[in-house]
Order: sequence, then structure tokens, then C-alpha cells
Amino acid sequence: MSYNSNNIFNKIVNKQISTNICAENNSFICVKDINPKANYHFLFISKHNIKDFNTSVNFDDLHSLILEVCTNNNIQDYQIITNVGSYQEIPHLHFHLLSNN
Ligand code: AMP
Repeated sequence: MSYNSNNIFNKIVNKQISTNICAENNSFICVKDINPKANYHFLFISKHNIKDFNTSVNFDDLHSLILEVCTNNNIQDYQIITNVGSYQEIPHLHFHLLSNN
């Protein structure tokens, strides 16, 4: 299915709604999940109009932003999860970082 811009992450990326941005670079922004499933639950949201992981992108910026957030929060042990299809609630590419560290 194609990308539909009518979703909350698109509005966050385009600053149409305010949110606390923890970190950002050219390709991703990091925010805290509104409904955390762990002590640390960050979302890394693509700045591009991409629905999910089925579309290939360059993940160098994702990698560097994850490491930056881990360093800033002293996180060593963590999980990175991305949901596709029926697992995905918001149809805009994003990655969860979960940690109880
Ligand atoms: P999913 O699309 O299933 O990978 O997960 C979407 C995630 O976005 C859920 O964990 C929600 O709690 C989270 N979420 C929904 N709205 C917001 C928001 N406005 N700010 C931060 N996180 C959100």
C-alpha cells in the first residue's frame, strides 16, 4: 500500500503538532513514546514520507541517532523494533528503542 500522509508522525515531523524532540538529524527525529512499554521507550521517526521497513532507505542516520540517544541516556542494553503490516499502528516508518537498563 502507498504512503498516506494523514498520520500523527507526519504531523510531528512537519512540526504541525508540538512534541518534545529528544534528538534529531537529517533523516530521523527521536521522541519519547507516549505510552511507554519499558523504562526507556524512544521512537525514531523518519523525516521522509515512507510507510514502513518494506521500503529501502539509507539507515546510517538512524544508526548514529540511536547511538547518540543511548550515550546521552547511558543505555547499554536495548532492543530495536519496527512494525510492519498489521503490527503497525501508525503507518509512517519508525523504530522503537526499548530498554530497562
Ligand atoms: P506502531 O505503529 O505499532 O509501531 O507503534 C506506534 C507507537 O506510537 C505506539 O507505541 C504509541 O504509543 C506511539 N504514539 C502514538 N502517538 C504518539 C505521540 N503523539 N507521541 C509519541 N508516541 C506516540
